Amino acid sequence: MVKRVLFFLILLLALRGVAAGQASAPVRDYFETLCRLSPRPPGSENHRRTRDYLRKELARLGWRVRLHTFTYENPFSGVQEGTNIIAVLPGNEKKTVAFGSHWDTRPVCDRDPDIRKREKNVFGANDGNSSTAVLLALARELASSPPTEHTVTLYFFDAEDSGRDLSTYIIGSSRLVEEEETGDIVFGILVDMIGDRDLALPYEEYSYRAVPGLARRVGDYARDKKGFSFFRKETGPAVWDDHMPFLKKGIPFICLIDFTYPWWHTAGDTPDKCSVENMGRILGLLFDIARSPALFYPGF
Ligand SMILES: [Zn+2]
Repeated sequence: MVKRVLFFLILLLALRGVAAGQASAPVRDYFETLCRLSPRPPGSENHRRTRDYLRKELARLGWRVRLHTFTYENPFSGVQEGTNIIAVLPGNEKKTVAFGSHWDTRPVCDRDPDIRKREKNVFGANDGNSSTAVLLALARELASSPPTEHTVTLYFFDAEDSGRDLSTYIIGSSRLVEEEETGDIVFGILVDMIGDRDLALPYEEYSYRAVPGLARRVGDYARDKKGFSFFRKETGPAVWDDHMPFLKKGIPFICLIDFTYPWWHTAGDTPDKCSVENMGRILGLLFDIARSPALFYPGF
């Protein structure tokens, strides 16, 4: 009997660990799967396969999945069909907390110090895969303990990273806010490049300027409740990312990004530079936000 009690106690502790997002195992599986589908610039076979994988996996987990497709001119590969994947876990109320990540990878390593590598595709271990793996793991965790009152929406954006200038980045999210209903979103969190082994997350400047209260509450919670000292209490670079179209539309949306990653847009953005433990930590934070959004946005 004592043994059995002990067994259940250990099981309970293990489950609590999973519920709090401590376990990085689901992130690891998704990260490895995505790395097998890399690189995936728009128009590539890996791009098509990843789109199908994301749609099927989210549906398998029990989420309502919708594809938002659009046609656009890709500066590197010409006219393409883009696909944003939208996954919804409906609650009793329509009010929504949203999470986003881009799932495409960059066609060129144009910041590589070696000029011969600049025409290569970025592998995108951190830039594309880390945040997408975290959102897939979040989908899995929430499917097994869904919030009942509010709705959670996950956005997997395409065509974020095929830009030559500001007008040709973040195409998928820009088209999404133009063409899709976003009125139920109370606030959102975008993640991008959060898998760095040496992770540092200062406040992204556009986010902090637009919604300082939300940015601060997320940072304070990460530091004080989760013990994540890599959330810096200072403002970092302003990054033109998929949260911008939401902010322009007046929807509170902050971006968590480590923009000090030395391998950004180079041939060095490979899995050995990443930490699934750090991805697991971000998963734990997003899980808490998804379950208790009012802690981060009073009046939710
Ligand atoms: Zn990028």
